[in-house]
Amino acid sequence: MKNMKKYNLKCPYCGAPAICRPASSVYGADTIDRGSYLYVCSRWPACDSYVSAHKKDRKPMGTMANRSLRQKRILAHQALKRLQKERHMNKWAAYVWLQAKLGLDESQAHIGMFSEQMCEKVISLCRPPVKPGGGMAA
Ligand SMILES: [Zn+2]
Repeated sequence: MKNMKKYNLKCPYCGAPAICRPASSVYGADTIDRGSYLYVCSRWPACDSYVSAHKKDRKPMGTMANRSLRQKRILAHQALKRLQKERHMNKWAAYVWLQAKLGLDESQAHIGMFSEQMCEKVISLCRPPVKPGGGMAA
């Protein structure tokens, strides 16, 4: 642990510093991976903001998010996955497609870094086109 890089994160919602805590201290009985860590707002649970950390070096996986943003990011990931499946793309191709659509480069096109607005954009981009003549496809 001595050589581990320190990541000083600040909560984007309230400005309080984030603390690296075991995921189980936030998820409790719902913890899937007991060895994983999160950066959690020091005002948690009053301020519901956190982000997962990489297990290897505890690098944050994106920016800290509250419940509503976390939900949006999950939906954006699902939308992109569905598109990837429909178009028979691999994950890499799906991200290249997303980068082109959003005008972002590789380092920016990470759903874990997106705002709610960006997530909504991803979701609408991935939505299948509405058939002409109206009516939703089943
Ligand atoms: Zn906070």
